[in-house]
Amino acid sequence: MKPHDIHYAVRFNTPQNHLFEIECHIAKPATEGQQLSLPAWLPGSYLVRDFARHIVSIQASSNGEVIKLAKVDKSTWRAAPCPGALVIRYQVYAYDLSVRTAYLDHSRGYFNGSSLFLQVAGQEHKRCSVEIHHPGKAYADWSIATTLPMLKTNARGFGTYEADSYQSLIDYPVEIGTLAIAEFKAMGVPHRLIVSGKHEADLKTISRDLKKICEHHIRFFGTAPFQHYDFLLYAAADNQYGGLEHRDSTSLICPRSWLPVKHEEHDRQQYQDFLGLCSHEYFHAWHVKRIRPSVFADPDLGHEAYTRLLWVFEGFTAYYDTLALVRSSLMSEQEYLAALSKDITRYLRTPGRKVQALEESSFDTWIKLYKPDENTPNSQISYYLKGSLVALAMDISLRLKGRSLDEVMHALWQRYQSGQLVDEGSMQALIRETCGDKLSTLFRDCVQGCEDPPLEKLLAKFGISFSSSKANDADTVRQWLGLQLANDDTRISHVFSGSAAEQAGLAAGDVLIAHDQLKASSKSLKQQLKRGRKQINLHFFRRDELMTTSIKPHDHALANVSLTLSDKRKPEQDQLRQDWLEIS
Ligand SMILES: [Zn+2]
Repeated sequence: MKPHDIHYAVRFNTPQNHLFEIECHIAKPATEGQQLSLPAWLPGSYLVRDFARHIVSIQASSNGEVIKLAKVDKSTWRAAPCPGALVIRYQVYAYDLSVRTAYLDHSRGYFNGSSLFLQVAGQEHKRCSVEIHHPGKAYADWSIATTLPMLKTNARGFGTYEADSYQSLIDYPVEIGTLAIAEFKAMGVPHRLIVSGKHEADLKTISRDLKKICEHHIRFFGTAPFQHYDFLLYAAADNQYGGLEHRDSTSLICPRSWLPVKHEEHDRQQYQDFLGLCSHEYFHAWHVKRIRPSVFADPDLGHEAYTRLLWVFEGFTAYYDTLALVRSSLMSEQEYLAALSKDITRYLRTPGRKVQALEESSFDTWIKLYKPDENTPNSQISYYLKGSLVALAMDISLRLKGRSLDEVMHALWQRYQSGQLVDEGSMQALIRETCGDKLSTLFRDCVQGCEDPPLEKLLAKFGISFSSSKANDADTVRQWLGLQLANDDTRISHVFSGSAAEQAGLAAGDVLIAHDQLKASSKSLKQQLKRGRKQINLHFFRRDELMTTSIKPHDHALANVSLTLSDKRKPEQDQLRQDWLEIS
């Protein structure tokens, strides 16, 4: 069945080889020869990943005759002209356990269309169809979960789907395997939570809580922009975490240990982190999937799409993801203040905040945020982290004048519904039009500049005190030496700008061997530092060379912010705070 001019068939009869076998049928190839390519990046993750690197073999044919296929650049092929339909057969290697590419083994299959489906040049706006074939008897219990519109599928979801364009085709991730599914409705809209991987998660509890988050976001914007929504969750090992937003679904990976299990105690904070991730990706269904920078309207997926607005799209989303948990009673006010304290502490401990402006962090995401290295803390600030704190500062500033950032979000949503996207440099004017205030100082100092948002001053007006206590015991080495040790305890992962470690000539990658004739470890270093040593003699390896130095510890005054409700707060401050957090 090939219902559309462009049709893809997906097979994976031997999942253990991690190869998806794809056929792309093009009914009307370009007369001068058909060009085909895979994207270099996918929306939501701003790094050139060159998905074509995973194509391991590719051939073209027409009416059973081999057609010459020439490679044009790293991601593009050109098939020689042919009189009839063109068929491209290729294999894609899929063994990346992230939400951004594709995965296949005997336990599970997963893909984003950007990893599997060749884009047919000149026909990107045509409808296309995809037939997903069952891998055979050994996988009898496998099903498919995706929000791709169905054309003809069986009860397990195998069969044919369609999409109205290439851009839309790659916005529906597909999960295949033994799936646990819970369904719920939020404001009447059907939602599903689909969990794969080994887990014993209590889907009833999770979907009950997700429903509250979804209803909050739908009420916040006034309308759901989709007919149905899927949370595709892979329950993974402890070090796996991530999410990617799509038009009516999201792909999530989180440690299975974060998920509640029936009749067992669970770590409330880790579960809130998981709910925060779901809240974040769900909020994106409005903010970045629909309200979006003009450059993301119809982006060239072969090249970077530069924008200075990611602090609005990721930063505001990071602000609202957690705020929504308080507003829907999944997090207490104290827990919210503790979460904010952690973010502010992390921000103040990043020297790069004084080097890179927020707008610049967004623009350079292609070469910086997604490519962290040993110098990242010294040279960068995340537009998620600072963006969320600037959103907080903006919200409080507006609320002190009887307005709010919520109104700005509503205005953005209204503009989207009337067909407008967000132009570069237009946010300040929008805030002025909506709330009558340009927030000039915040824009100049904290968005275009490298100043810290004045949170201590602003939060005080809401009856919240900002105190900085001493760094924790675990931070002793960082506090006194200005370096961070990797998990193996002796390799330096980071040396902070202007620190004692930098002055002593230490660098990331150095392996500490001994200090003062004793075997080095973070524990032994901590002991020496607590004894108030004025100088420590170090032996270390840089690559294979043995080196020595002496380091003079000094207090790097690490921030450790703690937000609490002030004892002296006034009733009007309580009112402001309750209106903001929607608590009574
Ligand atoms: Zn995001």
